[in-house]
Amino acid sequence: MGIGEFYLPGTGSTIQPSDPQPLSAIPEAAAPRRPTMDAARKQWEAQKIAPSPPTVQAAPSGPAPKSMSLFESSSATPRKAETLEAIREDLGDCHRCRLSGGRQTIVFGQGNPHAEVVFVGEGPGADEDAQGLPFVGRAGQLLNRMIQLAGMKREDVYICNVVKCRPPGNRTPLPDEIETCSPFLVRQIRTIGPRLVCCLGAPAVRTVLGIKEGITKIRGTFYDYGDIKALPTVHPAYILRNPREEKLLREDFQKICDFLKSSR
Ligand code: URA
Repeated sequence: MGIGEFYLPGTGSTIQPSDPQPLSAIPEAAAPRRPTMDAARKQWEAQKIAPSPPTVQAAPSGPAPKSMSLFESSSATPRKAETLEAIREDLGDCHRCRLSGGRQTIVFGQGNPHAEVVFVGEGPGADEDAQGLPFVGRAGQLLNRMIQLAGMKREDVYICNVVKCRPPGNRTPLPDEIETCSPFLVRQIRTIGPRLVCCLGAPAVRTVLGIKEGITKIRGTFYDYGDIKALPTVHPAYILRNPREEKLLREDFQKICDFLKSSR
């Protein structure tokens, strides 16, 4: 399998055009039951601390996403009004979607709450589900190596996923599961306020950036939204299946390294 358009590391399946709207369109809601999009949007509107000015601007070096991104709707300006602990508490013993039925552990996220870089994967696998920590299996070991390559330590960064419970058989999370879970991701990113969000694989790119182009086309391109940069790259699980492509990941992590050095 090649990293064709919309490659999904979980199953090798593809994202269909009918997949849901990007994370951007999902409000920062945390109601115990999943609200309808309209109700959720109203709820989000009511909860907003202050209206966010539209701060989204495509970087000269990177094209604008084709549809609204996470940053456009609610996260362009990091607001640190809440803590990761509070978000975790809101999540609780979550049963908002069907993924809760098959999970052992909620994998909320791990790392430095003040990280400069947040990595967003797809969803927990078996090892992550057992340990309650993101990227602790083979893909995680590769991610750790890449993080080191970029001159960082794992404990310096923050790592999380588009969904917080393991999809059965490691399948790709379904649109409604992403829609239900992603408000928590929005809140995590906003709270951390990183300089860079690195999207690992197509589901993360689609969810966070709202970009539907193939990962091969857009990987390694920085997207610039005010103070936050976003960098799509291939998922480490893809590299495990296609070791000869490791250079793609290395190149992109070198870019992370260069970015962090140049902008300090
Ligand atoms: N793959 C992911 O996308 N996330 C994990 O946490 C582990 C593997």
